[in-house]
Amino acid sequence: MQGANYIDGRWVDGATPFTTQNPSDLDESVGSYTKVGEAEVREAMAAARRAQPAWAAFNMQARADILYRIAELLKARAPEIGKLLSREEGKTLPEGIGEALRAAQCFQAAAGDVIRAQGEWYNSMRDGFNVLVTREPLGVIAAITPWNFPIALPSWKIAGALAYGNAVVLKPSSFVPGCAVMLAQIIEDAGVPAGVFNLVMGDGRATGNVMIDEADGLTFTGGTATGRAVLTRAAETMTKCQLELGGKNALVVLDDADLDLAVEIASNGAWIQTGQRCTGTERLIVTRGIHDVFVERMAKVAGSYRVGHALDPETQIGPVANVQQFNENLQFVIDAQAEGAELAAGGGAVEARTRGLYMAPTLLTGTRAEWRCNQHESFGPIASVIKVEDLDEAIHAANACEYKLSSGIATTSLKSAERFRKASKAGMVMVNAPTAGLEYHVPLGGRSPSGYGARETGSTAAEFFTESKTSYINHGAV
Ligand code: NDP
Repeated sequence: MQGANYIDGRWVDGATPFTTQNPSDLDESVGSYTKVGEAEVREAMAAARRAQPAWAAFNMQARADILYRIAELLKARAPEIGKLLSREEGKTLPEGIGEALRAAQCFQAAAGDVIRAQGEWYNSMRDGFNVLVTREPLGVIAAITPWNFPIALPSWKIAGALAYGNAVVLKPSSFVPGCAVMLAQIIEDAGVPAGVFNLVMGDGRATGNVMIDEADGLTFTGGTATGRAVLTRAAETMTKCQLELGGKNALVVLDDADLDLAVEIASNGAWIQTGQRCTGTERLIVTRGIHDVFVERMAKVAGSYRVGHALDPETQIGPVANVQQFNENLQFVIDAQAEGAELAAGGGAVEARTRGLYMAPTLLTGTRAEWRCNQHESFGPIASVIKVEDLDEAIHAANACEYKLSSGIATTSLKSAERFRKASKAGMVMVNAPTAGLEYHVPLGGRSPSGYGARETGSTAAEFFTESKTSYINHGAV
């Protein structure tokens, strides 16, 4: 993969070359790219600024058709994109292809949003007046994305931004820029006018600061610490922000849970996609009566997964995405043990055919809600179990963590489920379902400090990607 930056409809090489590695095989390099400097980022922002008014005025049907064409091209190229994603980020091939198809669905839905965009009309208390509340594009959107969903995440940001008449500058994670380059090619092929979409690769802070300073809106997904930094920067220019940040999601398992279902949703949330989902389950809060049998079953599942090369059809869990995250995961387990956690499964690296970043699905037991391992996001295939007496204690433990992204409960009691759903402080609550796995047509996001501002998907996308305007029309008495 050779990928350039895409600025004002031109493919541009920056001055700083860099390469990406295959986490399934560190001896294989995947892509060669170049990072641009501040001047080129400014150029991209200026190009977006110039192109945006014409895009906002673009014929509505034609704009919807273009977004639909992007969806079709993403679908047609899903096997190719999925393979690149597997090689660069480490998701298994079915997961990679699935993510590319999800990206297509985001554009498909956004095509519909173009023609469904609405305003409001009010009677006025003043005789002879009407009041209109219309929504107008925000303008130039800076989109900054992390490494864990390299095609779906940029897609849902870009699709929403374009649908509502904005221009976009995207900065993907430097760990996984390949899919963003393919997406830029598709956006160009679909006929998006020059300047309406731009792609820049660069270091987070340097590139991000210019983008934030010059944008009308920032949509950011990444870690909470980075989120705080971008929000502080955005405060200086009062740039409108929506941030999707870290999580430490809890699944409560009550004595009356369907054990098979509880194990299925807990293991899915904890270990599938190598635990690298912001909505993945990192804390398992389990009541005493079911605790031992649940732990035993979970440890068995953890040990049964085939961990290996992302492109091996036998693989169920691919590698950790990059060396930095891999080392952090291993250290996380060491630290958890040092504070008293016991290892019921995994905990270390796994040997495989290739020199990859393979980690065994890990289950820590005997932990307490206030311990570091239950307060800090690990973002790896690691879950820890907290034993509690009852639902009250479970609710307390689930909420006793600053992160508020997603939560869940496994129970056969409708009453307990509803109590938990209401009491949870998370932005998303799942009943008898994994904490991870949101669909694209509903608002996705957490409460501060796991999220900030309007959610970027579903019915709330318009809230972020547009500004409202209230107009009084004095048509005279009729
Ligand atoms: P980071 O916060 O490290 O990076 C995210 C993006 O921000 C990257 O493109 C990075 O660029 C860029 N960046 C880094 N520093 C700055 C800065 N000062 N200003 C502007 N941009 C900057 O996150 P990761 O990539 O490590 O992703 C993992 C994190 O993302 C986890 O915490 C996870 O929970 C969260 N996440 C949240 C989701 C949600 O919906 N809530 C969904 C998915 C992930 P570069 O790395 O190229 O320097």
